[in-house]
Amino acid sequence: METVFDAHVDADLVGRALAASAFGSVWLDIPRPEYPQATGSIICDLVIVGGGYAGLWTALHAAQRNPDRRIVLVEANRIGWAASGRNGGFVDASLTHGLENGKARWPNEIDIVETMGRENLDGMQADIESLGLNTEWQRTGMLSVATEPHQVDWLTDAAAKGEGQLLGLREVRDEVHSPTYLAGLYNPDTCAIVHPAKLAFELARACQEAGVRIYEHTNATHLDAAGVALHVAAGEATVTCRNAVLATNVYPSLLERNRLRTVMVYDYVLATEPLTDAQLDRIGWRRRQGIGDCANQFHYYRLTMDNRIVWGGYDAVYHFGHRVNDRYEDRAATYRRLAAHFFITFPALEDARFTHRWAGAIDTNTRFCAHWGLARDGRVAYVNGFTGLGVGAARFAADVCLDLLEGEPTPRTELEMVRKRPLPFPPEPLASIGIQATRWSLDRADHSAGRRNLLLRTLDALGLGFDS
Ligand SMILES: Cc1cc2nc3c(=O)[nH]c(=O)nc-3n(C[C@H](O)[C@H](O)[C@H](O)COP(=O)(O)OP(=O)(O)OC[C@H]3O[C@@H](n4cnc5c(N)ncnc54)[C@H](O)[C@@H]3O)c2cc1C
Repeated sequence: METVFDAHVDADLVGRALAASAFGSVWLDIPRPEYPQATGSIICDLVIVGGGYAGLWTALHAAQRNPDRRIVLVEANRIGWAASGRNGGFVDASLTHGLENGKARWPNEIDIVETMGRENLDGMQADIESLGLNTEWQRTGMLSVATEPHQVDWLTDAAAKGEGQLLGLREVRDEVHSPTYLAGLYNPDTCAIVHPAKLAFELARACQEAGVRIYEHTNATHLDAAGVALHVAAGEATVTCRNAVLATNVYPSLLERNRLRTVMVYDYVLATEPLTDAQLDRIGWRRRQGIGDCANQFHYYRLTMDNRIVWGGYDAVYHFGHRVNDRYEDRAATYRRLAAHFFITFPALEDARFTHRWAGAIDTNTRFCAHWGLARDGRVAYVNGFTGLGVGAARFAADVCLDLLEGEPTPRTELEMVRKRPLPFPPEPLASIGIQATRWSLDRADHSAGRRNLLLRTLDALGLGFDS
């Protein structure tokens, strides 16, 4: 059974549209602040490893909780260069990668987790406003669209459960003019969109203003077994500290125990040139909502402040061997597929051209949302596994890490979601076989009116399934 995205698209159109695209995130194509490399012997109270959102929010909130604390953040490369500078910029209230995923895993506490997620989104907005961070934050809400008949039923069910306002075919197409839309579900409150790299850079600025010392090009290579003395390779610096937070996302954890807890899955994105007013008129989209379709292999897309369309998703590619590697990023077949799907969605934009193409690695665990833990007698906290929904959740994750280090139970640390860790992935080649079989099955489900095969039903029954 074909889906709407199997329609034929002229290869010349796709080739022309991609011909002038540059490889690299559109978000990072702006001036960046620079921070020094660490050298010598550094003494502090708290060191944070990783200069993405999770590390930056941890540093900022640690400084706000205790302004006298000496805080150091070390980043192996540049602030925000990794997932935090490459994502779609959807700031979702969900901490569990969607309500269904959370309900399936933590039915008894999902209401409180949802409340905390909403508070986190509002808190993030309040932090951004009070600190005057220029992040291009827009509380646009989220429009989920059905592009296949069975997805209309899913959206109707979700609307009946109070998860948003159902839009029929005419209403959703009036909102955004795509011939692929059959229905929509709009929730004005649960999502904002943001400029991802500006969020990282502005958080770093706020950290520095709060007294955090930030070092770039400073790769932490070793966590002393005797206590928390962190030996930083670059510049031969050594950081000696009481506590550490590891916010290293897909990169090899300094803790051996975490190596099999996540795998990296590559996600691919395109950005168009800024649309002209005439082009925008052809597609509507005046309320600038974040948009996602409802398939297992889904697309996500949004407008930037200068009216580009950032268009990503669908292919999520796992590479054998469990390693981050730049050579996985420039994947021509995937960019061509994404471009073709763009023109199926917006045939009125056949004159639009892509200026940027890029990819990023997504830190995926077996429960599809962040997990936490403590090591070294409770002096080191870590968070991993945002699985593609970490822009908002990283702020909550930072507070969990700080709560865990403080040692007193809080409503956050009492959550089963925080106390329990996900099952690890098996080593290769089993990981590869299992992940590829699951991806194939999800694609089949999209081509079979959403029906899940035996493998997916078994994973669901074992609490390892994912329903986007
Ligand atoms: C293409 C793409 C699209 C996405 N879209 C969305 C979206 O729209 N909404 C959403 O919510 N989420 C999205 N995500 C996920 C989101 O971007 C991540 O969950 C989030 O950025 C994770 O932040 P982080 O700080 O954990 O990781 P990162 O931003 O990856 O930061 C980790 C940092 O740690 C550093 N580091 C690692 N090891 C060391 C070491 N030993 N020493 C020093 N530094 C180290 C790295 O260099 C890196 O800078 C997307 C991800 C990708 C890749």
